[in-house]
Amino acid sequence: MASMARVNLDGNQIKPITICMIGAGGFIGSHLCEKLLSETPHKILAVDVYNDKIKHLLENQSWGDRIQFHRINIKHDSRLEGLIKIADLTVNLAAICTPADYNTRPLDTIYSNFIDALPVVKYCSENAKRLIHFSTCEIYGKTIGSFLPKDHPLLQDPDFFLLKEDVSPCIFGPIEKQRWSYACAKQLIERLIYAEGAENGLEFTIVRPFNWIGPRMDFIPGVDGPSEGVPRVLACFSNNLLRGEPLKLVDGGHSQRTFVYIKDAIEAVLLMIENPARANGHIFNVGNPHNEVTVKQLAEMMAEVYSKVSGESVLEVPTIDVSSKEFYGEGYDDSDKRIPDMTIINRQLGWNPKTSLWDLLESTLTYQHRTYAEAVKKAIAQTSAS
Ligand code: NAD
Ligand code: UDP
Repeated sequence: MASMARVNLDGNQIKPITICMIGAGGFIGSHLCEKLLSETPHKILAVDVYNDKIKHLLENQSWGDRIQFHRINIKHDSRLEGLIKIADLTVNLAAICTPADYNTRPLDTIYSNFIDALPVVKYCSENAKRLIHFSTCEIYGKTIGSFLPKDHPLLQDPDFFLLKEDVSPCIFGPIEKQRWSYACAKQLIERLIYAEGAENGLEFTIVRPFNWIGPRMDFIPGVDGPSEGVPRVLACFSNNLLRGEPLKLVDGGHSQRTFVYIKDAIEAVLLMIENPARANGHIFNVGNPHNEVTVKQLAEMMAEVYSKVSGESVLEVPTIDVSSKEFYGEGYDDSDKRIPDMTIINRQLGWNPKTSLWDLLESTLTYQHRTYAEAVKKAIAQTSAS
């Protein structure tokens, strides 16, 4: 149970608040709920259409009434405004946020990330409630450097690749590359929230996650998700490793990403929640600039770590190349490189990520192996018997 004398970064006592968390049943929401319940006195009104990832929290009697689940689809449910009204703060995590959907379900993607978020912003603004809204690093799109020839010396200059909240442009591809439907919808909702702050005084914080990964991310196809579904890269590669098949590298796996451990990133969100004077009116990159790899390097490292935690040997051919058209379909495009600038979050909240890529993969793949290895074996046996 949390201590009653907790103070924030300015030495002020932290008073218990009620948080309306929309999308609480997802990957990030489940970790944020866990953190709030175990380390703070705050109360959560957890809103989602699913609750499998927070069942362990909902069933634990020791939290008392500090977590309440409301099965609500925010697209069409009049109860949402009432919950926002009784809360002190709303955290909006709800979204379609798997790249396989951006080009194949662009309408659902745009509605989910823009239209469905509109009432949330409106209710917060009209009722003078604080909002923490989850956007994305994908808002930056492609780097300026991606337009230079491969061996150009300016590619070494951070001005050509480092992503800064208050400086970098948002560079998306053409409309027919529907991959950018998500980034574009997220950009417009960011602009709307910013404008509500400027014109109507909405107290807001916008979070731009840079590839947060860890346990409970997405699903393993055919085990706890659709058999044909395509989750994000951590779950795709975990699924390949669990099935003993090569990891698929889209267009050679040359794109670069920085990965941050979910537990580090959640520390940053808690600082935002408990330090409103330092977080309001800001947009924060939240990522780990030291954990950069190409997708190919990620695949190789995951194969090595998985072999260590499972005791199985690495495949002779651990990866295979696949075209983006074959893997994602028409209209896919990619972010080339994503390194977050950390100046603003460092200055405002003093936050820094701690966990190396190897360590975060070791704990995550230990979880994946423990949670899924048996179920995957059974699913394979059933498929070969039928
Ligand atoms: P997630 O898919 O695990 O969680 C989203 C949750 O929102 C799901 O549980 C889903 O059921 C719920 N939801 C969606 N539409 C809803 C609706 N209409 N009504 C009620 N609930 C609804 O995704 P996540 O990784 O936890 O991401 C959370 C947020 O962070 C999203 O806004 C996403 O765009 C953003 N984000 C995450 C990452 C990352 O690295 N995980 C990166 C960039 C952006
Ligand atoms: N990717 C891949 N193989 C897979 C899944 C994803 O090579 O099985 C690549 C994808 O093309 C992208 C990167 O991995 O370059 C990260 O993809 P993810 O779905 O995690 O989301 P993104 O970081 O693009 O938002």
